[in-house]
Amino acid sequence: MNRLRALLGAGRPVLLDGGMGTLLQDGGLEAGVPGELWNLENPDEVRAAHAAYADAGARLLTTNSFGGTRPRLDLHGLGERVGEVNRAAAELARSVADEHGLLVAGGLGPTGELLAPLGTLTPEEAQALFAEQLAALVEGGIDLVLVETLSDLAEADAALAAAREVAPGLPVAVTMSFDTNLRTMMGVRPGDAVTHLAAAGADAVGANCGRGPAEMEVIAAEMAQARTDDVLLVAQSNAGLPQVVGDHFEYDATAGDMAVHATRLAELGIDLVGGCCGSTPAHVAAMGATLFPASPGTPDR
Ligand SMILES: [Zn+2]
Repeated sequence: MNRLRALLGAGRPVLLDGGMGTLLQDGGLEAGVPGELWNLENPDEVRAAHAAYADAGARLLTTNSFGGTRPRLDLHGLGERVGEVNRAAAELARSVADEHGLLVAGGLGPTGELLAPLGTLTPEEAQALFAEQLAALVEGGIDLVLVETLSDLAEADAALAAAREVAPGLPVAVTMSFDTNLRTMMGVRPGDAVTHLAAAGADAVGANCGRGPAEMEVIAAEMAQARTDDVLLVAQSNAGLPQVVGDHFEYDATAGDMAVHATRLAELGIDLVGGCCGSTPAHVAAMGATLFPASPGTPDR
């Protein structure tokens, strides 16, 4: 039995949330400061971002812990606080989710190290890094595991092994970024990711980040062709590509563009639909309004 299907019940697609980084920057996070630090030092701003996505109609809130593995926190001198940072990330999302009757996805990104043969990290070391982060997210009260933006199937396997080790009862979703000619940086095709990761025990497989909604729809179609009955599919596109506007970047897909995109994903049978970089609560609200026109603002979607 697919554990995520059991958790979500009926009703498709399920609306996920969108990007976190942009919201924190709008809230005053300075360049070079990791957003994860705000779980400890500016929790109200993190909570406000989650609440904005809850109000936009997202049914799952993703913890602010994308860069929460030890090597990535080490880049900012925070490696020793990995437990604290991730526990707080989960507790913040949990508190908002409980107020709105929502679910919490514990978000994990790449370890920040390359596995052999391109790098030196062993599969066992990668598993240990994921397990360390995930244990803290579990303590903070997550409902499922969401491993995002991977490029390497071996790293995905290590994350799945860590989930089996630390959170055997929780559903696991793994998404990869197919940002290089419709493949990951490591050359993985969408269909091959679905086949491999479903066999490796993922409850959901998908694509996130990338080069915008148009490419995501091509990727989603390839994933849909490779799916088996017992795996759910996820798509969380960036809101287009970043364009330089004055002294900052703006993503070029509007909320309306993302709403049209959400409809196309639903037609392809994608089960969980959300956004990634550059997508805001306004984008997610527009996606929800299009997907669920009869029930704006109701929580029982
Ligand atoms: Zn992204």
